[in-house]
Parts: sequence; C-alpha cells; structure tokens
Amino acid sequence: MEIRQTAPDGIEGQLEPLAGGSFRFACHPGVPCFTECCRDLNLLLTPYDVLRLKNRLGLSSSEFLDRHAECRFDEGRNVPKMYLLMNEDGGKACPFVTPAGCSLYEDRPSACRIYPIARASRVHRVHGTVLENYFVLRENHCRGFEEGRSWEIGEWLSDQGLRAYYESNDRWMEIVTHPRLINGPLTPNQQQVFYLGSYDIDKFRRMVFGGRFLSAFEIPEDEVEKIGSDEGALLNFAFKWMKFTLFGEQVLKLRHG
Ligand code: SF4
Ligand code: SF4
Repeated sequence: MEIRQTAPDGIEGQLEPLAGGSFRFACHPGVPCFTECCRDLNLLLTPYDVLRLKNRLGLSSSEFLDRHAECRFDEGRNVPKMYLLMNEDGGKACPFVTPAGCSLYEDRPSACRIYPIARASRVHRVHGTVLENYFVLRENHCRGFEEGRSWEIGEWLSDQGLRAYYESNDRWMEIVTHPRLINGPLTPNQQQVFYLGSYDIDKFRRMVFGGRFLSAFEIPEDEVEKIGSDEGALLNFAFKWMKFTLFGEQVLKLRHG
C-alpha cells in the first residue's frame, strides 16, 4: 500500500487513522495560517495532475514539466516520478500561491485537494477493485481543525472534486505498484516509456497520431476517435500502452506483419 499517492513525503509519523470516518475541518482566508501549507512541499504529481495543470496554464506537457516539475527516482527502482518545483527563495513557496489563496484552485493537484486527509490505496490484481484507507494528517501549523463542520470522508472527496482524479490516479497506481516494477530496477528505455506514458501526454499524442503507431496496433475506430478527442481517454490509453510495453500484458494487439 502506498500512503504517498496523494500526500506529501515524510508525513507518515503525523498520520492518525480516520476515527469514526469523519473529521472537523474548514479552510478559508480567515484562518490565521492561511496559505501556510503552500510552501516547502514534496508534492508528488500524478499524470492527471499534470494534465489539468498544463491545460490550466496553457502550456504543453513538455513545457509544464520543464518549468514546474523536477524528476526524482525511486530508491532502488529507478522509477522517474515528477514533483512540483517550489520557488527557490528562502520561503520555498509554491509558485501558484497568492495572498488570496491558490491561483489555480479549480485545477490544483490531488495532494492539495485531499489535505488534511491522506489516502492509501491499492488495486486488487484479481478483482480490479480499489482498496482504500484514509488518515488525518494533523500538522501543528494547520488551524483548520478548530473550524467549521464535520465531514464524512465521502462528502469531503466529492466536495474537493477528487473522484475524477482518483479514477485516473488509481489506474496509474496499478502500474506504479506492479510487481514487475517493484521487483527490479527499470532500464533507461523503460524509464522513458514510464515518463512518456505517465507525464508527457502531448508528446505521447504525437507518437500515436504522428507516426506509424496506429498502423502497428489493432485499435477499434471508435477508440481511436475517443483518444483523439478526449485527453482523459488518451491518458488511460497511455496506461494501457505502458502495461503492454513494460509488462507484456496483452491489453493491446499488434497487427500481423
Ligand atoms: S494550514 Fe490548514 S487551515 Fe491553514 S491554510 Fe493550510 S489547509 Fe488551510
Ligand atoms: S497548487 Fe495551489 S493549493 Fe497546491 S500548494 Fe500550490 S498554491 Fe497551494
């Protein structure tokens, strides 16, 4: 189980089980700590985070990754994962925080949405069901626990617009936690596949539609149409391509010859 799917690194010691399934919390410009949490973060970006952020900023995925993310490799596995770059000044503020709050609130990353909750999830490899647990991240600087109403976890996820994120994030976690990825370090070529399929969606689109990809694979016409017009569908297709390429799963079919 990977606690850090949507929570900052280094927080495991501060996690409490979500007792009774509910918690009291509110965050608004009136809290004395407003925007305190938007600095000095180890903020893991999921592929869907990158998709939403680069569109919000009007950048290509390559431009977004170059300007706003840094690559770190998992120890021992050589899996490239992207983290949001903080400003380089002393305060290490998030580049998107303003005195009025988050400047791209509607498209903020999964980790920002779920805070102060952390989610641990894994996908059952046989049944495909998602197993999940929630924890409260009670950090001393956060005064939101003294405010507002009580939330059931389901209400919180809906209120923060997390369902669409988890639909995509959970598919990605199937790849990140795949036994083949866990059991051995990736080769440089496999790293490139992981990076392209996970993060650089615009480059992946050019590979699919700009070269011989579509003549190499048997892909139903309606699926080609869907991935050509819907970026979320294209991202799911990239995950399929990663499973085929990295793990040899027969989720795509090569054309004969
Ligand atoms: S520290 Fe907590 S209450 Fe303060 S701004 Fe961040 S989330 Fe809101
Ligand atoms: S993206 Fe927005 S919510 Fe997340 S850390 Fe930056 S300013 Fe805060």
